[in-house]
Amino acid sequence: MADKEEILQKLLKPVGIEKKAGYNNSSVFGGFDNYILQWLDRLAELSSDERVLELIADLKELFSDYSRVQIKQRQKKLAAGQELFNSLSNLIQEETVEEDSMQRLPPIWQKSIRYVKGVGKKRAEKLARLEIDTLRDMLFYIPRDYRDWSKNLPIRELSPDSEVTATGQVVDSTELRPRKGLTITKVIISDNTGRLAGVWFNQSYIKQKFKPGMAVSFSGEVKQEYGELQITHPHYEIMDSDKELDPGKILPVYSTTQGLSQNLLRKIVSRILKEHLDRFPESLSPGIKDKYDLLDVKEALYKIHFPDQIREVKEARQRLAFGELFILQLGILLKKTDLLTEEEGLVHTGSDELITNFLSDLPFELTSAQRRVWAEIKDNLESSIVMNRLVQGDVGSGKTVVATLALLKAVSSGYQGAMMAPTEILAEQHYLSLKESLEEYGLQIGLLVGSLKKSERKEVIAGIESGEVDIVIGTHALLQEEVSFAKLGLVITDEQHRFGVRQRAILKEKGENPDVLVMTATPIPRTLALTLYGDLDLSVIDELPPGRKPVITEWRREKDFDKIFDFIRQEVKSGRQAYIVCPLVEESEELDVRSAENMAEKLDEDIFPEFKIGLLHGQLKTDEKEAVMEGFRSQQIDILVSTTVIEVGVDVANATLMVILDAQRFGLAQLHQLRGRVGRSEYQSYCILVADPGTETGRERMKIMTQSTDGFVIAEEDLQLRGPGEFFGTRQHGLPDLEVADLLRDSRLVELARKEARKVVDSDPKLQQEEHQLLADLLQAKFGDGFELIDVS
Ligand code: ADP
Ligand code: MG
Repeated sequence: MADKEEILQKLLKPVGIEKKAGYNNSSVFGGFDNYILQWLDRLAELSSDERVLELIADLKELFSDYSRVQIKQRQKKLAAGQELFNSLSNLIQEETVEEDSMQRLPPIWQKSIRYVKGVGKKRAEKLARLEIDTLRDMLFYIPRDYRDWSKNLPIRELSPDSEVTATGQVVDSTELRPRKGLTITKVIISDNTGRLAGVWFNQSYIKQKFKPGMAVSFSGEVKQEYGELQITHPHYEIMDSDKELDPGKILPVYSTTQGLSQNLLRKIVSRILKEHLDRFPESLSPGIKDKYDLLDVKEALYKIHFPDQIREVKEARQRLAFGELFILQLGILLKKTDLLTEEEGLVHTGSDELITNFLSDLPFELTSAQRRVWAEIKDNLESSIVMNRLVQGDVGSGKTVVATLALLKAVSSGYQGAMMAPTEILAEQHYLSLKESLEEYGLQIGLLVGSLKKSERKEVIAGIESGEVDIVIGTHALLQEEVSFAKLGLVITDEQHRFGVRQRAILKEKGENPDVLVMTATPIPRTLALTLYGDLDLSVIDELPPGRKPVITEWRREKDFDKIFDFIRQEVKSGRQAYIVCPLVEESEELDVRSAENMAEKLDEDIFPEFKIGLLHGQLKTDEKEAVMEGFRSQQIDILVSTTVIEVGVDVANATLMVILDAQRFGLAQLHQLRGRVGRSEYQSYCILVADPGTETGRERMKIMTQSTDGFVIAEEDLQLRGPGEFFGTRQHGLPDLEVADLLRDSRLVELARKEARKVVDSDPKLQQEEHQLLADLLQAKFGDGFELIDVS
């Protein structure tokens, strides 16, 4: 095939001749203009540089009407063309140099969709709304459905009351107005064996779509009415007259936007497939394809858009999903090996005496799940391999005790332990409870949060540095530079989903390869955990302490407020306590605080003058917060009005009622977290969601909450409703949106892709081998430089 420079020479050659010949369009056999336009198209196909394509587009426009204009204008056009050709020639030389030095992905990858024949600037803008910018994007724009026109029956053979598809020519269309407010539009098609009517009610715009003689397919349930065959509101398809798309086969249906018809999208895809598919790179090795019986990428891309049989779609989708997951897993694993240090970890082999004492002093027995998870952690601590373990347990499953055991093991082995929590309230609570339970064994517990007084802060930091403090609990404040540990041996982050990977890394750096434990209540389906957390070992506390009654959850409307207040009154009168949570109203924390303040005031003055109301929000000072929490813990406060600061970890067993206002504003995972603040004792607990959701999904979500108290079930439902990106906050995890694969549905593929990616990384940890160059490029294209965003914990 000719390369760009050769084509350029072919283009330049006749320009001089045409001039000499007197602009009579005869310098080349078949016409100078045709010749130029054709070679410009060839050149465009090979180019990806926007500027080159732009110049080509200008040249094409310039010469498009060459044969139709006067000699004088032709002269001008050639002169203008000469200049454009000069610039083009410069650019192409430049481009060739660049390509030789760096580009391994073929141009199809980045070439703008704009330069595909029949697209152009306007349509490219519309395609951009569908996030289709390049040829590659278009090929990976997966149809949302297919119409099987291959099963067409002759109209004569259609049997009434069945689902059918039939094709014919429009022979008649009529509009009837039998009475006011009712318009009936009828379009009749015929295929020489019979006539079939499509009928629409009150959709008169439909009539203009059908012109006599057009080839049209209808599908839907056919009925025999008034002696004719009819389909009411049929799916219809206007067959393509230019024969580019073979009618009578399976056609893709895409999600689209105003101004882009199905036929146009099909044509664009079909053109790209025809002209560029053979240059599409294969990312999977023959070995992998054989092993899992996967299609070649070219075949898969073709079949996902234009299958011969519907069942081929599945095969094609599987192959593309695998390819996508393979690259994703590769990215995650590479990032992970990057993070792993090669040095040996600490060995925690101190005596278990402290632990034995602590356990025997506990007012309860560990659940068997807690015992199992503790054994897994202990194993890691005692070995020289660095621990990287994620402990996952639903709210209330008792993660804190397990963390405490790990801290005790570190301290008994002569190290310090640090535990980082996402909010001051939670840090303080951990601090208070550890202090209460551990000081009797002579341990020194420290608290480091942002709002400490200067003197307190100085003292804690000094204690951490000297080694006097055995265990320090804190917030982000622990990450500050001036905090340095004497001998940090264990780092724990509680409710890890709130922290970024970098923050954890900073804390880790404060010791020499300390062991790391991260704890989360966010229930993560296994396939997602594999994807999000790469190589972290996973322990699951899948059992709640005995005697817990599931929280009864009810969904109420705002108009039911009086009844809700009655219920609160009844609970508080019987000695229990209640939380009332006000949501994030605006982006601004100040406004949220004000709404919580207003609520507290209203309750205090108008509704519950007989009870003590407390108010808790993020803008209070540490000692103020502490005082409020202490008041609630000691039952001096009956009802605690709060913003979402109590979302994580707060533990007051006597509180049995949680009322969440504007509940539709919260994510399901967040609602589940909030609800986890109650149901922590043997009393029956309740959660009332006050919400007037405006959408079906919103109502669906409230129903899920009332039907399940199982974090896993809720997470999976949430995932189904919202997709993984939103579920975890794409920004937080930097998980790229998936085009084909579905982490839930394709869980088996996730594991296989991971296994294969692992092999590649083991054999070539930096993807330097020649055969892995394409993978490196694909990764680069997908994640950008250094995969900075991926959070693999
Ligand atoms: P979470 O996993 O949500 O962090 P916590 O560690 O705060 O849960 O534990 C919730 C409550 O359950 C605490 O009051 C804790 O003392 C109690 N708890 C933990 N383990 C047990 C157990 N095995 N038996 C009874 N109560 C337990
Ligand atoms: Mg907790």
